[in-house]
Amino acid sequence: MDTGKQNERFERARAALANGEYKITPLEDGVWSIINGDNTPYRVTHQTCECKDFEHNAKHGVMCKHICAIHILFPQTQGGQSKMNDTTPNPITGWTRLYHPSGAQVTLPIVYAAASNMFGQVDAYLGAGFQVNAPSLEEGEQKQEVVSVSRRESKDSTPIVAFYLAHPKTVKKFLHSYLNNQEDVQAFETATGLKLDSIPLWPAERDIDKDHKDAGTYIVPLPRPINLVWEVNPKWQTWSTEGGKSTGAIEPHKRILVRYDATGVKPVTAPLSTPVTSGDPKPAAGALVRKYQDNTSCKDDPAERVAFDAYTKANNNSPASLEALRAWYRVAGSK
Ligand SMILES: [Zn+2]
Repeated sequence: MDTGKQNERFERARAALANGEYKITPLEDGVWSIINGDNTPYRVTHQTCECKDFEHNAKHGVMCKHICAIHILFPQTQGGQSKMNDTTPNPITGWTRLYHPSGAQVTLPIVYAAASNMFGQVDAYLGAGFQVNAPSLEEGEQKQEVVSVSRRESKDSTPIVAFYLAHPKTVKKFLHSYLNNQEDVQAFETATGLKLDSIPLWPAERDIDKDHKDAGTYIVPLPRPINLVWEVNPKWQTWSTEGGKSTGAIEPHKRILVRYDATGVKPVTAPLSTPVTSGDPKPAAGALVRKYQDNTSCKDDPAERVAFDAYTKANNNSPASLEALRAWYRVAGSK
């Protein structure tokens, strides 16, 4: 058997598990269903899988990434103990999504057991420093990674951009946002790394879905995934509370873009200008030196200072420049 090929598949399985890309459901004793990127459920055991990779490589003794995932999640007892004599039930694994203090979202395994034991496992993660909410989010705000975008225009020619998730099952846009002025356009271009005009204009009144025949033309992949900070539209909340679809009222848009989030996207090139002092929410303002990453100083202008501090707090980093701060604040402040 080819050790290199096998290791590569184990690596892919580990990465997919860490990213929460596999939906794994136990079917029967020692058999699981794994759904991954192509949305096809495979029947997988410790020895077999229905995927193409395994079909081709089984004869070389190479296990596919799905089988590897099963071995990672449900290790077999050492010593070649036969399954029939093994009375220990297979551990079935649940998952919890938590945040590393850096802002990285991680999917961590929880072995199904007595409830108190499961509580204990989550407690252990939290005790170690994992966080329930993404750092730098205000109450009610949520963060979502998006990977592609489309563009259309309102009747008065205001650009509207729609963002999409990587998940193949979600064909509708995640949210859309009006770019009402030049600053909005600037913030969009800074966050995505795309020029607005480079995105083909979708000539319709509703955002294009990913399963539309022209999606390949009008939905453009982002140079790299970005995070959107969003919140539930209060109008949608009201609509939902009042009975939602059953009332026949038109459903308002559910999600509103609050700002683009640079955490984890932009490399940290300068130390924090604001020292992080835990326990002291209001450090003495006079003691701070506010510097942009392009080395210019924040002017002694209250509005600029407030925006600067809000940016630093939200992004765990100082703004790249005054322009970047303005672009960000435009989006963050327009909610
Ligand atoms: Zn497979």
